[in-house]
Amino acid sequence: MSDAHISALTSSAYQQALEVIASVEPRIAEATRKELADQRGSLKLIASENYASPAVLLTMGTWFSDKYAEGTVGHRFYAGCQNVDTVEALAAEHARELFGAEYAYAQPHSGIDANLVAFWSILAHRVEGPWLERLEKKNVNDLTDEGWEELRHELGNQRLLGMSLDSGGHLTHGFRPNISGKMFHQQQYGTDPETGLLDYDVVRAKAKEFKPLVLVAGYSAYPRRVNFAKMREIADEVGATLMVDMAHFAGLVAGKVFVGDEDPVPHAHVVTTTTHKSLRGPRGGMVLATEEYAPSVDRGCPMVLGGPLSHVMAAKAVALAEARQPAFQTYAQQVADNAKSLAEGFLSRGADLVTGGTDNHLVLLDVSAFGLTGRQAESALLDAGVVTNRNSVPNDRNGAWYTSGIRLGTPALTTRGFGHDEFDNVAELIVHVLQNTQPGTTKAGGPSKASYELGEGVADKVKDASAEMLDKHPLYPGLDLA
Ligand SMILES: *Cc1c(COP(=O)(O)O)cnc(C)c1O
Repeated sequence: MSDAHISALTSSAYQQALEVIASVEPRIAEATRKELADQRGSLKLIASENYASPAVLLTMGTWFSDKYAEGTVGHRFYAGCQNVDTVEALAAEHARELFGAEYAYAQPHSGIDANLVAFWSILAHRVEGPWLERLEKKNVNDLTDEGWEELRHELGNQRLLGMSLDSGGHLTHGFRPNISGKMFHQQQYGTDPETGLLDYDVVRAKAKEFKPLVLVAGYSAYPRRVNFAKMREIADEVGATLMVDMAHFAGLVAGKVFVGDEDPVPHAHVVTTTTHKSLRGPRGGMVLATEEYAPSVDRGCPMVLGGPLSHVMAAKAVALAEARQPAFQTYAQQVADNAKSLAEGFLSRGADLVTGGTDNHLVLLDVSAFGLTGRQAESALLDAGVVTNRNSVPNDRNGAWYTSGIRLGTPALTTRGFGHDEFDNVAELIVHVLQNTQPGTTKAGGPSKASYELGEGVADKVKDASAEMLDKHPLYPGLDLA
């Protein structure tokens, strides 16, 4: 089917859907239209966001939402799950084929859910065997209350080593206020304070001293590739399970930009991901695992999850089918190339980047040299129609709330068709905004970390320049809601 024909079908599908929605609650139809207009009209540089295809989006709006299907394919706790079985089996099959994984679990509702499933599966798998045999149980589901009491005690002694939040790790990698930092005794590895880079010798030394049960690799705000073969070596040296959270960069793995040592799937015991970031699917999560870990991951429901979101699993299957097309590899390579163009755009204009550049899909701009906090930079950029998020930089002097950095990613605008010239221009516009933003003062007259003043006319000028690029690369071309 031609692109033009698909656009025309999509357009009429949404026009009609919004009419139906408006007949019940017109304000929701209106907000939905407005959201499209807002997304179309802004430079979306949030590194964790993307634009899913109309096929993926449309798949989510069906009666699969109405079906309960707790359990696994062919083994459900509800009757009438034959079509959900088809959907879940297809999502898992596409995921296994795409990533070369031995096993895939498509049920987690989000990245955090995927990590919870992974943590509990790893614990269940690792405490099974001798420990469960001692309790004369086959698996953790058979445990009595006393057995659980003992298991909790055992789990209380379990250790997790993950990347620290301020070095680019995620909340779920053992950050204290997160459940992962409470269910595990956790320690964190960071990045080198000078270079901002991961130092595998430091990770190894920490692992040898701490002897974690789980070594977590993966990140949300680290602008470089990770050598997962090395991480596996370290895990093996200390008897840890290697879990890789590829939530951010799954699209670069799917698109074969990260191969060999940089592909987590052949090296990790368990891999978790979101499906809505660089992978460009519906909002959701997924777990990949080796055969060895598969049986315990399969118990995600009832261990951690309730009924799966069958409509979202269907959309995952559609998105994974898209990611298996050759065009997705071209897209993924362009995402990485564009991040380089953006980084070079900043460096050539004298801006500071954490680690001095990027080799994945994101750059971390240190805004201290502009005399601003991340919060001020984020707000000023938003005034100019540039959507980013503030982010800590290593050893951040402004803490996790105000921060000193801005995180920028290329997956979304690459989906719109932006290339080298556009990303160079994006760097130019961002530098222009930051150079023309002054920090404000507090009521007491001191320097404020939040208020700021954007130079006159700057926002309009940047919005005009952005509009030209955005018009040239329309989001959902042909989708007309007028
Ligand atoms: C985004 C992200 C998550 C969480 O995903 P949600 O779908 O928001 O729950 C987990 N881990 C990493 C590394 C992430 O970047």
